[in-house]
Amino acid sequence: MNGDGMKRRIVALIFAALFLTGCGAEQEQTAKRTEIIETETTHYVALTFDDGPSDKYTERLLDGLKDRGVHATFFVIGNLVECNEELVQRMAAEGHQVGNHSYDHAQLNRIQTAQALEDLQRCDDLLCRVLGQGTYWVRPPYGLISDVELSDVSAPLVCWSVDTRDWELKNVDQVLDIILRETGDGDIILMHDQYKTSVEAALRAVDRLTAQGVRFVTVEELFAIKAIEPECGALYRQAK
Ligand SMILES: [Zn+2]
Repeated sequence: MNGDGMKRRIVALIFAALFLTGCGAEQEQTAKRTEIIETETTHYVALTFDDGPSDKYTERLLDGLKDRGVHATFFVIGNLVECNEELVQRMAAEGHQVGNHSYDHAQLNRIQTAQALEDLQRCDDLLCRVLGQGTYWVRPPYGLISDVELSDVSAPLVCWSVDTRDWELKNVDQVLDIILRETGDGDIILMHDQYKTSVEAALRAVDRLTAQGVRFVTVEELFAIKAIEPECGALYRQAK
């Protein structure tokens, strides 16, 4: 949250405190006013995890998110879903969004269009089988996809606006620092749940930012809150 947001939040709280001693009608009015200011100043962000599920670390992450009442988005790789179906079902059951990160994690713009689309479809079919019919948003591996392929995908596609470089840094403090410095309202944070350091950094970031009034929501929820109607075959990087 920036300084302005924090100031407005404090003003809202003072407002609320001043009117607390008033009569019922005044209290109700004040509560409404506080709620409006709260909505205007609350920052919403989406944590996203690619390349899972990991039979080593995803469970720990899910436990941590559950303890904190926070929802994230998991862009899973099809061939890993096959050996971890229960983990993926747990994600969905606990309110997280599950998305398609292709079946084989190939760089889609470097393979034949038909092959790329088949790979995405294979993961989509698998998610429909494991989780039920639905629209599974797509994150192309490495964030790369050709324009021809893009226009043929029958789901919204989403990349990211905050790159934590967690796969490269593998350092809790450095990853946490990037998240705290770069994350603002409407941002989509890229992480990977197959590193212990990433899980730790994500949970610490949730604790730090939640204390500042930031709310963590799924990508789908973020777009709904920001009143952005996601379109199939369109690639988004943030919700602003
Ligand atoms: Zn990936």
